[in-house]
Amino acid sequence: MTSASPRDIVAAVVRQAGGPFLLEPALLRGPKPDEVVVQLVATGLCHADILARDQHYPAPSVPLVLGHEGAGIVVEKGSAVDHLQVGDHVVLSFAYCGACGACESGGRGYCDHFTELNFGGSDEHGHTAITDPAGNPLHDHFFGQSSFATYAVVNQRYAVSVSKSVPLNILGPLGCGVQTGAGSVLRSLDMAPGSSFAVFGAGAVGLSALLASQLRDPRATIVVDIVPERLELARELGATHVIDGRSANLLEALRDLSGGGVDVALDTTGNSQVIEQGMQALGKRGSIGLVAGVPGGRASFEILPFFLRGCTIRGIIEGDSIAESFIPELLEHYEAGRFPFDKLLSFYPFEGINQAVEDALSGKAIKPVLTIG
Ligand SMILES: [Zn+2]
Ligand SMILES: [Zn+2]
Repeated sequence: MTSASPRDIVAAVVRQAGGPFLLEPALLRGPKPDEVVVQLVATGLCHADILARDQHYPAPSVPLVLGHEGAGIVVEKGSAVDHLQVGDHVVLSFAYCGACGACESGGRGYCDHFTELNFGGSDEHGHTAITDPAGNPLHDHFFGQSSFATYAVVNQRYAVSVSKSVPLNILGPLGCGVQTGAGSVLRSLDMAPGSSFAVFGAGAVGLSALLASQLRDPRATIVVDIVPERLELARELGATHVIDGRSANLLEALRDLSGGGVDVALDTTGNSQVIEQGMQALGKRGSIGLVAGVPGGRASFEILPFFLRGCTIRGIIEGDSIAESFIPELLEHYEAGRFPFDKLLSFYPFEGINQAVEDALSGKAIKPVLTIG
């Protein structure tokens, strides 16, 4: 079973749907044989954390500890951990079983057990790793980590060892938002060099996709959003064109700026009308990826022009990332100055978590990162 006595930690606990994150003392059990204990240095805040705080499906129920873009240092390891050492710097990514058909064929985001492993709120036996000081369980294992805490226990499969030459406090978002955007372009849609690229939504995922598209020597990069500050940032990050999504001639502009039709598009909004426009803006053999949506959301499109142009629509989870190879690859690009994802980050102290949520919702912060230890 597990080792030693529980560790004293501080965790950001959600006790009611939509309520604040409350920093509370808590207890964390020791690692099982295939787990490591990670001391969190910083954790990104992702939109899924806010949806789960508000108890939108498929969130674990309250009380719970969220957080799924953790970066930290391995401080203890289970007896069967074979590829991590105490002292390693790690980025934590999403959970997957590793044994189903999807996992074995490289599609971990489509794992048969994705929902229970990432949103189940406990381990496979219904036990949480975190309790309050009186021993009452706090739902955890969010994306296999629950990293809004000073320490987390994580299966070794979800902890990616990274170079110590890059400051650990910027790395957490690579584990979800950044790899989703970058992976969509570089893996799922595998954008061909010289393509035109358009992204809908200039949040962390969309702007990470923009940065990744620039690694493929694009003919044009177009960012669509309705927040002027975000469009301004997109320009600073090298977008060749930015468009206000409310403009009446959006479709025309997309076709013009891309030189007749977009080759690769990514929707990060989940908005039906936006997706429909994106589908119509595609050129011959163009493809559009979808990374967001709401339960019951629908989009419609005219079939004939879509198939006559040979277009593709693709659902994408986590950018089809194989984290242990993709995250180091992105870091190489970062260190070479080709992938400056740190420009998307705004830092907050752990106690400032509720302010970080507010700023994420208002659009003031693209990707808040909580500095924990
Ligand atoms: Zn996320
Ligand atoms: Zn699986």
